[in-house]
Amino acid sequence: MAKDNKKGIFEYSAAPESTGHISIKEQYDLFINNQWVKPQQGKYFDSINPSNENKLASVARANDKDVDKAVKAARKAFPTWAKLPAKERGKYLYRIARIIQEKSREFAVIESMDGGKPIRESRDVDIPLAAAHFFYLGGWADKLEYAFPGQNVEPLGVAGQIIPWNFPLLMAAWKLAPALACGNTVVLKPAETTSLTALKLAEVIQEAELPEGVVNIVTGEGDTGAALVNHPDVNKIAFTGSTDVGKLIQRSIAGTGKKATLELGGKAANIIFEDAAINQAVEGIINGIYFNQGHVCCAGSRLFVQESVVDEVILKLKQRMGNLVLGDPLDKNTDIGAINSKGQLQTIKKYLEIGKKDGLEMFQPKLTIPKKGFWCAPTLFTGAAQSHQIVQEEIFGPVLAVQTFRTIEEVIQKANNTPYGLSAGVWTDKGSKIFNLTSKMRAGVVWANTYNKFDPTSPFGGYKESGYGREGGVHGLEAYLKLS
Ligand code: NAP
Ligand code: MG
Repeated sequence: MAKDNKKGIFEYSAAPESTGHISIKEQYDLFINNQWVKPQQGKYFDSINPSNENKLASVARANDKDVDKAVKAARKAFPTWAKLPAKERGKYLYRIARIIQEKSREFAVIESMDGGKPIRESRDVDIPLAAAHFFYLGGWADKLEYAFPGQNVEPLGVAGQIIPWNFPLLMAAWKLAPALACGNTVVLKPAETTSLTALKLAEVIQEAELPEGVVNIVTGEGDTGAALVNHPDVNKIAFTGSTDVGKLIQRSIAGTGKKATLELGGKAANIIFEDAAINQAVEGIINGIYFNQGHVCCAGSRLFVQESVVDEVILKLKQRMGNLVLGDPLDKNTDIGAINSKGQLQTIKKYLEIGKKDGLEMFQPKLTIPKKGFWCAPTLFTGAAQSHQIVQEEIFGPVLAVQTFRTIEEVIQKANNTPYGLSAGVWTDKGSKIFNLTSKMRAGVVWANTYNKFDPTSPFGGYKESGYGREGGVHGLEAYLKLS
């Protein structure tokens, strides 16, 4: 329940099982030079809780003048930050990591309230991984010459970073940690529907006493992102989001000399062979597509089942789907939270209609759907073929399309036959099959007998229309350095 404590801060008693409070301000301004700055036009938008449509806070809408102010702050801070002994830069990152850990419960609750994801996921995955990224990259800060032996390493300058709404704090960490470790300064633009944990992170940055201007956060919609991309004094663009916006960005920076990494959409194949441990594979398929309501760029949204085990797999999948708990994201037993926004729910529903119209068989378990908020039951389509729209296009929701195959050659050909190439999964008892298949998959990450496992030491990124450049691991450093 929200309660105004007369300081303009709403205090929430969070999940029923938890103690303590989390605080969300009534209104958030822009974060520039370590201070809260009013937006030039005085405009704000609402951030809501998608599980009940209640307003959580007003958030500043930055225009191009505000973006310019933030870029100027980052530019001014750059020479000092870049020249700071690398070990000192590393210490700041460790400090941020530790404060995130200290506030992890508060971060997890805000992430689930603002974005709709189950608290179990924000608590056990998003927030710990965000801290882990700062720790890991903090460790690299003073070892860059060992990462690139024999080469001269220099930061690029000001990085403009734009992130999506599906893993808000984690995506901020993926972007900020390598940029800062390498000596760049940053202007970060969170997604409109999920700005609150990035703004909480601004408070962490103040608490960690980062020099002013090193991290600036400008909130807003797509035009705020576009203003950042088009700003002439930005040296590097790091974007995670849809392929359509990625293409726009690529066009607008062509010929400017700005360096870019684009992490875009996906339509991953998850492949089960007849020799797989079927129960384990079914669990992995469920996690692969229904984790975070399928709002995952690397979600295993295309299932390929070897023909001989298809009946068993489908039966077990349907049984398992019937046991999933859909509801309050703040309940620790929830498996399926709310869809992030009304707009995204409409997109998902459009694809459900397309699937049905194309003659596919749709299955949804009987679950009670809350009356308020944005919800979609976990969905399975059988009878899918390569040509179907729901097989070719990214839905970004809890929707799985099932196809069958007979031979390994056939499944490799089908799995690779999409415009995307971000990730894939394979389930088999045979190591040789894993090696054979993974070497032929056009996907940045291929998981074997597991799915959706992330680690800061491991590079992540796509082929084809899933983008270019890598984040994470040593590879992720390269995107923020000039090597000579
Ligand atoms: P999106 O619509 O492309 O938005 C991503 C970010 O870009 C948001 O902050 C958005 O602001 C901003 N933006 C919108 N239009 C812009 C423009 N013209 N110029 C600059 N910035 C602009 O994507 P989304 O719906 O938030 O996220 C879902 C997509 O992200 C999916 O396609 C998913 O696959 C992809 N994704 C990829 C990865 C990966 O690592 N490859 C990871 C996660 C998600 P607003 O929020 O205000 O529109
Ligand atoms: Mg929200």
